[in-house]
Amino acid sequence: RALITGSAVGIGKAMAYRLAEAGADLELVDINKRSLEAVKRELLQFKSEVNIYQVDLSQKEEVDSLWEELKGKEPDILINNAGIYPFRDFLKVDEAFFSKVMAINLKSTFLMCQHLIKSRLRKGGVIINMGSIEAILPFAEDLVSYDISKAGVIALTREIAIQYAARGIRANAILPGFIKTPMVEYYNTDAYGEGSVEKMWQRRDAMSPTGKQGEAWDVAYAALFLDSDEAKYVNGTTLVVDGGLCNTTRQW
Ligand code: NAD
Repeated sequence: RALITGSAVGIGKAMAYRLAEAGADLELVDINKRSLEAVKRELLQFKSEVNIYQVDLSQKEEVDSLWEELKGKEPDILINNAGIYPFRDFLKVDEAFFSKVMAINLKSTFLMCQHLIKSRLRKGGVIINMGSIEAILPFAEDLVSYDISKAGVIALTREIAIQYAARGIRANAILPGFIKTPMVEYYNTDAYGEGSVEKMWQRRDAMSPTGKQGEAWDVAYAALFLDSDEAKYVNGTTLVVDGGLCNTTRQW
């Protein structure tokens, strides 16, 4: 049974497909109820049980209520994937902006991990937290809050891996590079596409060593491996899924 946050669109939705195909029952969590309902309908083609929950993960009370509702059917796989990616000039980042990015990208991940660990201690569990290559190689301008939040996600993942390995919980982070998803279209078109979605996609393709940015499926397959028993000895790692981008010296 897997819980995936941010599973209404993009990478989270792709992971829901792959896990349903592999036979997992799913708890899908997102703030976007309408898209979640659409995903649930699409997943009817698989035999999995799919439950959806509209939750604003930045709100602790909503996270706690979610786990109340999950009592008795707690997931053994938790994928913390929901996130936001807003650009803002370093000196224009105010407290409200910084706090919002941290609340969604980092605090919610921390709270969700606490709940999973409490419910699966000694029973066994797997956590995947979604980081970003931006956390280890910040090369897009104006993403300071995002980069800090994702660096925190990596630190949190390692902390859990060390503290809970002997008690049956594994935790790993995936660091995607350029992946073509609604998030990117929403945030990046103005930031470096000069208002043109096509121009922005071309720019990302040109930056990618493979000549193409990745698809949500590429990240979903990585998650499928980390979730599986075949990865039982993989713990506390960061799996980069970027087509080799981290190894290039190309700049924006
Ligand atoms: P996306 O915007 O396409 O999907 C993110 C999902 O999170 C959406 O369904 C959104 O509704 C949900 N969400 C946002 N705020 C929420 C909240 N407060 N409560 C509940 N749900 C909320 O994004 P994506 O590109 O699929 O990215 C998924 C993850 O991968 C993110 O953590 C992102 O930072 C990371 N990532 C993406 C890329 C990329 O190139 N797409 C690169 C590196 C890392």
